[in-house]
Amino acid sequence: MKAFGPVPSRRLGRSLGINNIPPKVCTYACVYCQLGRTLTMQAKRDYFYETDDLIGDVEQKLRQAKARNEPVNYLTFVPDGEPTLDARLGEEIERLQPLGIDIAVITNSSLLYRQDVRHDLARANWISLKIDAISETIWHQIDRPHKSLQLAEILQGILEFAHSFHGEITTETMLIQGMNDSHEEIEDIANFLERLQPDRAYLAIPTRPPAKQGVQAVDEQSISMAYHIFSQSVASVEYLIGYEGSAFAFSGDVENDLLGIASVHPMRAEGVDEFLCKASASWDVVRKLIDEGKLVETEYLGNRFYMRKLSGR
Ligand code: SF4
Repeated sequence: MKAFGPVPSRRLGRSLGINNIPPKVCTYACVYCQLGRTLTMQAKRDYFYETDDLIGDVEQKLRQAKARNEPVNYLTFVPDGEPTLDARLGEEIERLQPLGIDIAVITNSSLLYRQDVRHDLARANWISLKIDAISETIWHQIDRPHKSLQLAEILQGILEFAHSFHGEITTETMLIQGMNDSHEEIEDIANFLERLQPDRAYLAIPTRPPAKQGVQAVDEQSISMAYHIFSQSVASVEYLIGYEGSAFAFSGDVENDLLGIASVHPMRAEGVDEFLCKASASWDVVRKLIDEGKLVETEYLGNRFYMRKLSGR
């Protein structure tokens, strides 16, 4: 079966996943990959599955979801490998469009230097682009690319794509301790994002065991610093740190609502004050959550911030 779900996704609502690549066929062998080691490393596009089979699987899953009265907000290419390696990607998107559901693709961006890949992706409605590093050395260290790939060409391809794409572009940057978490690298990524102007930039940490032993997520202080640096360049920045919190859903449960917001971005002390005031609650709630290890106080440029304790550590 090449389709699964729909599954709830913070970024996409209810997303029906499409697996258009055999397991772990990828252009990268990222140190943090949560799917295990890359089994087939390749940078050449290939034909994997028959388009009719893939479309048939998606239609079947949609029928099942409909029978259960489950809405589907996105059809999402999120395979166990790199989706743009599929030479039929453009054709598949085109065949899915008449279903009338927006199409998302989560890519590691490595093949965006290719005009045919940019052309295929241009048909989608929502794209997530991986941007883990700007420095060649760090890129090699963290994403461990296929030897034929060139970072400068990829970054150029990403910019070209972004400037002509009419849908929504998000980026995803996985922060790894001791690799891409220096002030300098984060600023370089932020400067690139400023040129790219994505609709939203996500900062992620590994939340499941990574491919390479010893790979560590950054700590709260570093992710908070990255958030502040990115926020100087991009209008909307959020975390992906393993909690499906929502900054917008208020359930009336003060603790959960506070944790929900703090799992999406750090809250300034003033913002917490305002929130507590509206909820007729006191700072005792915050102190309790800190004591229970659910909330962490961080500092940036002399200001106090509160964020969700990271699960990946
Ligand atoms: S790009 Fe994705 S699938 Fe490929 S190695 Fe990296 S994390 Fe794993």
